[in-house]
Amino acid sequence: MNLNLPILFCMIFTGLLFFSIHSNAQQLVCGDGILKNYLDRNYPEYMDRVRATFEEARMNGITPYRGQEIYTIPVVVHVVWNEEEENLHDSIIIDQIRIMNEDFRRLNPDAENLRPIFWDRVGDPGIEFELVAIERVQTTALFTPSLTALPDQLKRSADGGSDAWDPERYMNLWVCKLQPLTVFGIQLGQVLGYAYPPANLDNWPEGSSAPSPEVDGVVVDYRIFGRNNPLEIDPGTGESVSGYGRTTIHEIGHYLGLRHIWGDVLFGDGCSEDDGVEDTPNQAAASNWACDTTVNSCISPLDSLPDMIENYMDYSDERCMNSFTNGQIAIMRAVLEGPRSGLLQPVSTREEILEKSYSIYPNPSAVGIFNYSLYSMNGEHLKYQVFDQMGRLIQSGDIQSRQGAIDLSGNIPGLYFLRLIDMEGSQVFADERLLISGN
Ligand SMILES: [Zn+2]
Repeated sequence: MNLNLPILFCMIFTGLLFFSIHSNAQQLVCGDGILKNYLDRNYPEYMDRVRATFEEARMNGITPYRGQEIYTIPVVVHVVWNEEEENLHDSIIIDQIRIMNEDFRRLNPDAENLRPIFWDRVGDPGIEFELVAIERVQTTALFTPSLTALPDQLKRSADGGSDAWDPERYMNLWVCKLQPLTVFGIQLGQVLGYAYPPANLDNWPEGSSAPSPEVDGVVVDYRIFGRNNPLEIDPGTGESVSGYGRTTIHEIGHYLGLRHIWGDVLFGDGCSEDDGVEDTPNQAAASNWACDTTVNSCISPLDSLPDMIENYMDYSDERCMNSFTNGQIAIMRAVLEGPRSGLLQPVSTREEILEKSYSIYPNPSAVGIFNYSLYSMNGEHLKYQVFDQMGRLIQSGDIQSRQGAIDLSGNIPGLYFLRLIDMEGSQVFADERLLISGN
């Protein structure tokens, strides 16, 4: 087997975080380079189609958000964990959602750090996120990116992962430990995340984005998720990783159709390769974890702007990222109005969400103790009622936390009916049959 140098260089260029044995240099960010190679091999027209898509968005004259409708994307976070520390606390997940809602509404306090030269180019994307559920799956599987494949088994319960919720309706966001990328026993680096660009654009061939719909979504390494994450440490060097919750922002940018700001050039003149967005300044290469405001890698009469290290689609230090340009916003909103419009469909009933967002086990129960797990954040403020077969209320109480037990052990074996209602008792979220089987 020959080492495929173009692929290797591509990955270096597209910024893996290197846990290099020989160097402490760290570079951001995502597996997008692997992805593009993977897609290029499997779908040879991929890059042309990407370009055509951007062209179409521009031709349609789609304007960026300026006080128009705010789009809300329902999010399901899948925590697929092996070691206990990978099973991130709810507070870290909630913090990451908060950062998404800041950055995609340009409410991030550090937006003011943007250099004035870019002020007229950036805006509020008008995109918000609603955490619908947290799925937690313990696994023994390892998720290892290779030069030829992304670890999408993470997204299949049969392979030790967590199955996507309907990818047309929900943005699935998987958080797991991504194993280092290793070739011939040498650690090449660490992929911190990856995401597939949108499917079903009119000008894309069938299947040119995610290899299959159920693996569509965003993947982020657990160590770089959230801003309050105590684990943001390079396992190779023990040094702190400069995560700031923005690997997720960057990957969602890909999910909503954006390319890297420097255009992913592999060889030759980086200034000749563009990201297909008119108002992002031309840039020769990734900023490689730096925050250097003096760099202007492409100087031309048409574009005298410096490299835009503040852009979420660069690979600059996450602490100096703070902006999307209006052109990028136009593409993301066009994607939400087009190929990902299913995300904006209203959920028809609350039950539809809750149907998938709780579990009760064991059921039947021999002794009458039924454990429950609520995945929905909205499920925390609920009451439960238990009725017998005659319809008599035999027990009720508050659901105090998202995991607990309903103890019916004092009752005779038989069938009972559990009802979850809101605190006012005005809305029924679920009816469930419970069977005490007896010994
Ligand atoms: Zn990327």
